[in-house]
Amino acid sequence: MVKVSRNIQMVDLVSQYEKIKPEMDAAIQEVIQSARFINGPSVKEFQSDLEKYLEVKYVIPCANGTDALQIAMMALGLKRGDEVITANFTFAATVETIAFLGLVPVLVDVCADTFNIDIKEIEKAITPKTKAIVPVHLFGQCADMEPILALAKNHQLFVIEDTAQAIGANYTFADGTTKKAGTIGTIGTTSFFPSKNLGAYGDAGALYTNDEALAVKCRMIANHGQSKQYHYEVLGVNSRLDSIQAAILKVKLKYLDEYAVARNKAATYYDKAFSGNPKIAIPVRGKNSTHVFHQYTLKLNGVDRDKLKEHLASKAIPSMIYYPVALHSQKAYRHSVNEGKKYPVTDQLCASVISLPMHTELDEQTLKYITDSVLEFAK
Ligand SMILES: *Cc1c(COP(=O)(O)O)cnc(C)c1O
Repeated sequence: MVKVSRNIQMVDLVSQYEKIKPEMDAAIQEVIQSARFINGPSVKEFQSDLEKYLEVKYVIPCANGTDALQIAMMALGLKRGDEVITANFTFAATVETIAFLGLVPVLVDVCADTFNIDIKEIEKAITPKTKAIVPVHLFGQCADMEPILALAKNHQLFVIEDTAQAIGANYTFADGTTKKAGTIGTIGTTSFFPSKNLGAYGDAGALYTNDEALAVKCRMIANHGQSKQYHYEVLGVNSRLDSIQAAILKVKLKYLDEYAVARNKAATYYDKAFSGNPKIAIPVRGKNSTHVFHQYTLKLNGVDRDKLKEHLASKAIPSMIYYPVALHSQKAYRHSVNEGKKYPVTDQLCASVISLPMHTELDEQTLKYITDSVLEFAK
């Protein structure tokens, strides 16, 4: 078996940086030289570039993806006791922000194939207190938005899309029109955490919407609730995108589609290597969404996951479990979720998924080494 030179990582941000180093260094230097670290020109420029890329009217930059979710729920005027439906199989931030604002997280099960929120489960969970649905576009592809929008319309609910893992994914409606993830519902939120598909070199996030009044409210909330300096209109937070991160993101946004192609290439290599193996289920592509492969996640069947992980680690191949414990079983959230409610699919996924290295810098030699190593264990 071939040895690979550079250490294999889940995400290789250094090699990615090296390819755009002169451009990136110049962009960072420019901010330092200007000393406009907060609300410098790069913030507006990135905002406008992202609006164009997403074909959305308003992008509101903020400090991170968790804040983006919180700001969205504050701006929509959600009140203590309002129920918010979201997926049980997601990163904690989604439910954390709901609970933090005194709203009631209503966790629902997900689809076994796409890992995304199950529409039938949403429908069952709607009560007169339900105010919003937060679909999470998990691992890089869109939840099935068209039926979610229909449910939301029928029940007058807001739809807050958590796009932290799927920036750039396209959703196609039955009539053939397409929209970018996050621009479909009432409002979209995203994260530019370094390992996300559009990653800053630190924390960063944004909201997007086509609703002007909502955009104004979000911008105000993200800036201490000020309508103008020292005039506080509403209760706000301090959640800014800093100028250096904006300059970095502005450079990387130009390559985002290229990066998605590189990720898809790696995913296709993995798919080919594993398909036909009864012990390994490759990720299922939802029929209405492109996939930007934030994660490449397998479902194992009759393979000891811990031992596979150890086997890979012994060959210097990292792997991760996203997510090992469902949110309804977490100490912090147990009390705020419906006791006794069962989540068979989420529990099954937590017990059987494993994510392999997925990033923009995986070459065939590395992919071969990884897939050979998985297959020699899961024969
Ligand atoms: C990363 C992530 C977030 C939070 O983003 P941060 O920028 O780390 O605060 C929220 N939701 C999902 C699904 C995520 O993957």
